Amino acid sequence: MSGELRRRIRVILPAFIRLLIVAAVALAVGAGFGTEAALWVALGMLGAFFALHLHYLSLLGAWLEQPSLSSIPGGWGSWTEVFNRLYKTRRASEISARRLEENEARFRRTISALPEGIVLVDAALQIEWCNPVAEQHFGIRLQADQGLRITNLVRDPAFIAYMTSNAFDEPLLLRPLANPTLALSVRVIEFEPARSIIMTRDVTQAERLDAMRRDFVANVSHELRTPLTVVNGFLETLLDAQPPLDELRQRHLRLMQEQASRMSRLVEDLLMLSRLEAEETPLVDDDVDVPALVAELEAEARALSAGRHDIASHAEPMRVRGSRDELRSAFGNLMSNAIRYTPSGGRITLAWRAQDGGAVFEVTDTGIGIAAEHLPRLTERFYRVDRSRSRETGGTGLGLAIVKHVLMRHQGRLLIESEVGRGSNFRAWLPAARLRAADEHAPLKRAA
Ligand code: ADP
Repeated sequence: MSGELRRRIRVILPAFIRLLIVAAVALAVGAGFGTEAALWVALGMLGAFFALHLHYLSLLGAWLEQPSLSSIPGGWGSWTEVFNRLYKTRRASEISARRLEENEARFRRTISALPEGIVLVDAALQIEWCNPVAEQHFGIRLQADQGLRITNLVRDPAFIAYMTSNAFDEPLLLRPLANPTLALSVRVIEFEPARSIIMTRDVTQAERLDAMRRDFVANVSHELRTPLTVVNGFLETLLDAQPPLDELRQRHLRLMQEQASRMSRLVEDLLMLSRLEAEETPLVDDDVDVPALVAELEAEARALSAGRHDIASHAEPMRVRGSRDELRSAFGNLMSNAIRYTPSGGRITLAWRAQDGGAVFEVTDTGIGIAAEHLPRLTERFYRVDRSRSRETGGTGLGLAIVKHVLMRHQGRLLIESEVGRGSNFRAWLPAARLRAADEHAPLKRAA
């Protein structure tokens, strides 16, 4: 017999036994006093049972209105079993609800103790919950602001743009309008299709140190500029002296001149990097004619190559909104790297074309290539695969760091593919938002 059937029988059995008793009493009365008396007695007993069931039914109804363990009614007959079961079910659900509440409270206490700010938001960015650190970071109050959109409370344009961008690979560095002395690193973690966690970390101290480092490098570079100009000037004067210096001295002076101009390049690159990193340097909004820039870079490449390479370029007629000087510097670095790291006889192609909804400036060479393990570190300052080769070819080790910063300022990305001995492909990708409507020219094609 299955458990379910047994349980049903247990509920029905008392009522069934009572029916049998009624029948037995009616039969006994019938035998002594006739059928009519038996029917009256049976009717009376059934009426009494019916009234009893109605009474318990009303008790059950009343209890269901406000179910609690303490007020569960006691029963009689089948109702004892019914109320017993209700009691057990209610007790089990109250225990699991209490356990759930305890778990949730413990979870919230744990999150509240984190040094990071945590805000739980739904798909519409409405606040579901946040910890006290997040309240402090964003200047919000959970009690008052629960259910409100976080972008209506934290009105910083950078924050609103970030939260609506759906591009959360990189954290946002935020100086909240409400508390500009604070530097926050904001991350968004999408953990359910319709819910996200906003995490904030106080990076004020780290930012202050970073700013000090940047200022120091910028100041030193700036201070070195003038002495270097003077040294370079005098070296040139000495080399042009009449009557000319003897051969050995001239060779020494030329070596000095080479090193001095390397230092000047280094200083210029360092200054450029600190300008790019300084938050207060706004991005200018030039209308950049990239095809014209590509043509300029191609001419420059030919001059740098001095006939050692086969150079070609093609550009689609797309313009860009951004800083012409910065883009020129970034694209120029990619081009000059290709020349410097491609042996004579190699081929170098510059291209400007549409890609992935945006546009890409691409430099492809058939040069020495780069082993895969170096690729993730190439944009670090002073990271070189081969230090002496970089130096020989006049490199500063800062070129790709500049490229990365320029692209970041234009919401772009640098993509690198390379194979040792076969060549490299560097792509500076810019998003659709940076593109200007196409001009009237057809794609222009040129070959070496
Ligand atoms: P550098 O001034 O040394 O060229 P960069 O930051 O421009 O510094 O480049 C970093 C390193 O990346 C270089 O030292 C070189 O090893 C490698 N590299 C860059 N571009 C290329 C390329 N087109 N082919 C091969 N290696 C390259």
